[in-house]
Amino acid sequence: MSEPTHIVITGANRGIGHALGEHFRAAGNRVTGTSRDGSAGLALDVVDPAQHRAVADALAGQAVDLLICNAGVYLDKGQALDDGYPPRMWQDTFAANVTGVFLTVQTMLPLLRLSEAPKIAIISSQMASQTNAPGGSYIYRASKAAALNLGRNLAADLRGEGIAVGIYHPGWVRTDMGGGGADITVDQAATGLMARFKALSLDSTGCFETWDGRSHPF
Ligand code: NDP
Repeated sequence: MSEPTHIVITGANRGIGHALGEHFRAAGNRVTGTSRDGSAGLALDVVDPAQHRAVADALAGQAVDLLICNAGVYLDKGQALDDGYPPRMWQDTFAANVTGVFLTVQTMLPLLRLSEAPKIAIISSQMASQTNAPGGSYIYRASKAAALNLGRNLAADLRGEGIAVGIYHPGWVRTDMGGGGADITVDQAATGLMARFKALSLDSTGCFETWDGRSHPF
């Protein structure tokens, strides 16, 4: 492709999303970052349909080659099984981690269809896996499992249009969410994920992979 690749990233103001934006820009790509506060470029709370419409208007007619659904919350860290996990926490988590991903894909689909080789990357988590179920973090695990399921079904629906969809575990990353004791830096996560996104194709659509290139059990 002669033009720089256009990449859209949600939650690009901090953490993994911010690092991905920096690395993709440094590699010569055009990056449209979105964030709730607008500081990453465009204002987008992924749960807000009106803001999705505004973003669609702002980018109208511009091909998007890679959409990275990165924005997410982990609200139930440390909740107690007996008296924690209030209903509102379920709603807020699913709104951001599941509905938000779906709305973002809907918003970007017309722009992805303008690309020669469109891809969607969904940042889920190893905590989505049915084979990794040690208990705890019920809300986050369920929301990321739903995002994984969503990605798998999008892959089936969009394969015929030539849009590849990958679902990723970004590693345990030192961010506000991952904490200071996590395994890897945002730069390591971003570098690894970029290689995964590059390798994503219609042959691998629907994959669930880790940042360092391993297939993750569903
Ligand atoms: P951070 O908490 O550092 O950043 C989360 C980002 O998501 C922020 O930019 C935040 O914006 C944004 N966000 C949250 N809710 C919304 C919303 N409703 N609309 C728009 N943006 C929103 O997390 P990480 O960078 O660590 O996580 C990025 C992704 O990676 C998440 O999906 C997370 O679940 C996943 N992940 C992270 C792991 C880790 O170890 N860090 C491990 C596995 C998965 P704001 O500043 O406005 O809050």
